[in-house]
Amino acid sequence: MSRTWNQYVVKQENKALVLTTIINHTPISRAAVAQSTGLNKGTVSSLVSELIDEAFVTESGPGASSGGRRPVMLLFNAKAGFTVSVDLGVGYIQAALTDLNGEIVQVEKKQVKESTFDLVFETLVHLIEQLIKHAPVSRYGVIGIGVGVPAVVSHEGEILLAPNLNWKNIQLKQALEDVFDLPILIENEANAGAYGEMRFGFKQPPKDMIYASIGIGIGAGMILDGKLYTGKSGFSGEIGHMTIVKDGTSCRCGNVGCFERYASEQVLLEHAVKRHLIKANEDLSLDTLIKKAEAHDQEVLQLFEEVGEYIGIGLTNIINIFNPEVVLIGNRLRDLQKWLIPPIEHYIHSRAIGFHQQDLTVDFAKLENFSTVKGMAAFTIERFLAQLKDI
Ligand SMILES: [Zn+2]
Repeated sequence: MSRTWNQYVVKQENKALVLTTIINHTPISRAAVAQSTGLNKGTVSSLVSELIDEAFVTESGPGASSGGRRPVMLLFNAKAGFTVSVDLGVGYIQAALTDLNGEIVQVEKKQVKESTFDLVFETLVHLIEQLIKHAPVSRYGVIGIGVGVPAVVSHEGEILLAPNLNWKNIQLKQALEDVFDLPILIENEANAGAYGEMRFGFKQPPKDMIYASIGIGIGAGMILDGKLYTGKSGFSGEIGHMTIVKDGTSCRCGNVGCFERYASEQVLLEHAVKRHLIKANEDLSLDTLIKKAEAHDQEVLQLFEEVGEYIGIGLTNIINIFNPEVVLIGNRLRDLQKWLIPPIEHYIHSRAIGFHQQDLTVDFAKLENFSTVKGMAAFTIERFLAQLKDI
């Protein structure tokens, strides 16, 4: 009995290996799959037949051949299922339908004026329902829902603390499971952003990368040695709350002098009010400040520079600790990149310890404003495909 079971496990593992090879090298011939996996051609053929029956793989016309009969190519069928992947931010929810390659099929975005959980949850459920309704017909339909949140999230998906939403001990996973009969994943939005950038943002992803999510608050996702690092309990990367000014401005986390009290979207808006940069009849928003910067408003440009310097201070601390290859800035302040680059680079160049700067790239998120959405899609897809081994 156990021998049969072992054979079954090996077969499922081989099947997952064949599928992963096809996903990573699509289009690819059966012979190339055999060569790449080290499995014999007969085994590959029978596993590929199963994958075709299960709609994960399709066949296309002949590919290039070095002579003789030209092989039929195998393609990963990314439309076999879809994910609903969500970036639940402060003041907005951005939700997308993606295919199994993380390609976005449809996006819905809604501003949320108040952050009370009941109101946010109602909007979230509505957006998810809309996307599920519009999912194209496919073998597996919607395979799961992933939500990235600006919060300390436990490995079990409980939101322990989200200072900028004013949420504490919220069972978001459970609440969504009560509404949707689908697998639900909840993850910190910066961790998701880092993972999305690693999976989909580079041809050759860096092995050591820090993704700094700078929006209303600040968090970081860390790719260390090619893997997402989340810490013992999943709480790593709370860089927004590292102290950069002794006895500084008080923060919603209860501490004072936190990084995000000097370098976030929230700070830009607070200073815009304090310095009368935005008139009463204008919308108090980052977009209004961007328009003014485009029109060379000197006071707004000065504010951007000050905030850029503080971002440089925070990032220099991170660079000195982790010695990353790439630092990416994502979330809302990505939209300010042309004004933020000079002060950030200047600060890092003048303060980071010299040898840390060799081979260091400081850049902005490659996936525009979809880092978190695509990261949640990647988590959801990987969990779904991993089940192949467990069936
Ligand atoms: Zn704080």
